Amino acid sequence: MTTANPNTAPTVISNDPWFDSYAHRAESMRASEIRALFAVASRPEVVSLAGGMPYLGRMPFAELSEQLARMLREQGEVAWQYGSAQGDPHLREDVLPIMALEGITDAQPDDVVITNGSQSGLDLITRIMCDPGDVILAEAPNYVGALGVFQSFQVDVVNVTMDADGLIPEAFEEAVQAQRRAGKHVKMLYTVPNFHNPAGVTMSVERRPRILEIARRLHVLIVEDNPYGLLGFDGRTYPALRSMDAQNVVYLSSFSKIIAPGMRVAWMVAPPGIRQKLVLANESAILCPSNMSQMTVTTYLDHFDWQARIEDYRSMYRERRDAMDSALHEYLPTCSWNKPKGGFYTWLKIPKGLDAKAMLPRAITAKVAYVSGTAFYNDGQGADHMRLSFCYPTPERIREGVRRLAGVIDRELDT
Ligand code: PMP
Repeated sequence: MTTANPNTAPTVISNDPWFDSYAHRAESMRASEIRALFAVASRPEVVSLAGGMPYLGRMPFAELSEQLARMLREQGEVAWQYGSAQGDPHLREDVLPIMALEGITDAQPDDVVITNGSQSGLDLITRIMCDPGDVILAEAPNYVGALGVFQSFQVDVVNVTMDADGLIPEAFEEAVQAQRRAGKHVKMLYTVPNFHNPAGVTMSVERRPRILEIARRLHVLIVEDNPYGLLGFDGRTYPALRSMDAQNVVYLSSFSKIIAPGMRVAWMVAPPGIRQKLVLANESAILCPSNMSQMTVTTYLDHFDWQARIEDYRSMYRERRDAMDSALHEYLPTCSWNKPKGGFYTWLKIPKGLDAKAMLPRAITAKVAYVSGTAFYNDGQGADHMRLSFCYPTPERIREGVRRLAGVIDRELDT
């Protein structure tokens, strides 16, 4: 088990005069493979199936700008001022009906902490729970941004197996016991139960209470990261783990995928002791979340039909998922993949013997980008998979991207 991702080489600055001065924790920080790809993949001639950028082309920016201008005229001095470290009370109230859609009906505004994106929430929870060498159990493959946070706190990330129904309860229990036998402190289970990034799978409804029961019995905190839960293609939502257990679950959700990531506004719900520490950690990290961003979000929520927008996203992303699925059937029938029920990602297994990471420069030359599966593991696995995002490109571009990818794979198989 390693904590640093061996797949992502650190950026080495030659003759860095501070080379000997960095903290140990900086040694385990690595550029994410996705960030490294970003510049190349955003060239217009490249079909990017790499990034997880939501499609914002259908946002009502003209109408929104009028409401935002009014908000600034009337409340500019609040919007441009420092605010509460726990977050704007109005927004903490506004997130309650959103969470109710996934069965969380008992949360109060005081249980909520607003964060600078869920990325910051992951940093805060790790900061308050984990010392170097502690263990976080996580699904493998794992959200690359979470791996980055866990590594930066020098935590040991231990993989727990998933299948088509998500995290396997028995594997979770065994992993806790094995780590405890080895004398390790298991601090939490990190899970993305809905429309997983990158695996695309969803934890079955039947498994959810079983996982909660194990966590309670073994006293392991569950960190439930749920940015995609409202983006199910059949209109269905799944009961949040937090809806069944308010004491053992820290819940994270975000406006990044249902409104816009540029706002950097997300929220957490935690039991009282943890919530108090999260507020202190938020304060020491950033003083307070941006009032301007939070009030932009509340303006949007208060004046626009956000539920209708989510419905629209669901059908748009479903169409793109279908375009991905049919293009894969047409051009890459010998590969295997899942057909996700929601979210942004298809997890593609490539033919035996090929290496998704090694192949990537050839794919870029062929003007298609993806993320190698290696980005989502901390132990060198994943070269036999790639993550294909269908959220941003149009169905036609998705089809063209898969056609180009099939050309690259065919050439690899020929050599
Ligand atoms: N968790 C998961 C599973 C994600 O996919 C992402 C974004 N890609 C995040 C957290 C971070 O989201 P945010 O923009 O809210 O920081």
